Amino acid sequence: AKAEGRGTHRASTAEPDAKVNRARDVKFALNNALNLDEFYLDYQPIIRLASGEISAVEALVRWKHPQYGILAPDLFIPEAEHSGAIIPIGRYVIAAACAFAATIPAAIAVAINVSAVQLHDASLLETIATCLATHGIAPARLEFELTETAMLDITPQTVAALEGIKALGCGLSLDDFGAGYSSIATLFYFQFDRLKIDRSLIRDAIGESRRRIILRNITRMARDIGIIVTGEGAETEQHRTALIELGFDDAQGNLFSPPLPAAELQRQLREVAWG
Ligand code: C2E
Ligand code: CA
Ligand code: CA
Ligand code: CA
Repeated sequence: AKAEGRGTHRASTAEPDAKVNRARDVKFALNNALNLDEFYLDYQPIIRLASGEISAVEALVRWKHPQYGILAPDLFIPEAEHSGAIIPIGRYVIAAACAFAATIPAAIAVAINVSAVQLHDASLLETIATCLATHGIAPARLEFELTETAMLDITPQTVAALEGIKALGCGLSLDDFGAGYSSIATLFYFQFDRLKIDRSLIRDAIGESRRRIILRNITRMARDIGIIVTGEGAETEQHRTALIELGFDDAQGNLFSPPLPAAELQRQLREVAWG
């Protein structure tokens, strides 16, 4: 029993070490990937339902991993947030999205996802302002998307970051609304410009009158307070029809377009411009 006790003791001291080592390895790998230019952005159009025109494009980060191929953000963003590597990765995303914004029509906004961790970065506002200036982008062309989970740890610093983003003249979107810890307080206390209804709610509202009533009232409330409402994950014509009936302004999803490489989207926009 004594030997077992010692073993247990050893294990419990070794475990935090292993965790620290792993976190350090992950942080190193992510920063290394950034230095090697292995991250890039795809862009997914957000469509105005009434006209079919592109209202914005959302920048979605990918990791072109030398061994594993193209990795989706869900596979490395949580690790990046945990290790702090999201700060430099997030800076890259903001810079690349601004560079892209300069190449497309000014009527199209560019939406950028930001993690809660980034709201604690004292240099976030400066990063945004510098990128806007470098590429000559009007601030109103950028929309920063925050999930409700990001809104959970509201501190004076995160409040200042959100107010700072608004003060710069950029937009704020509440992402994945209804997916997790929805709180009316988030809408109550912060002036979002866009509300993005999570795709699970869109999917589950089809043919369910009670749920459709709830969504119809959300879009009505949003209209009354001047917020654009986007339905995420629109995959079928049925979704499109339902979103229009329920009073959504915009929609995003594979029905309209999957996320596209920058060059492909630029090509499509040029074709539209030429007729
Ligand atoms: P999100 O912000 O909710 O982005 C939309 C996700 O839904 C994207 O996944 C997109 O590819 C996917 N999607 C779009 N249309 C459809 C559809 O019709 N059906 C289905 N099933 N899915 C659709 P993706 O690119 O894998 O991104 C996953 C999440 O990773 C994003 O969710 C966002 O929370 C996060 N993310 C992406 N880029 C960044 C970034 O630069 N920074 C941070 N912090 N997070 C990011
Ligand atoms: Ca988003
Ligand atoms: Ca979303
Ligand atoms: Ca999501």
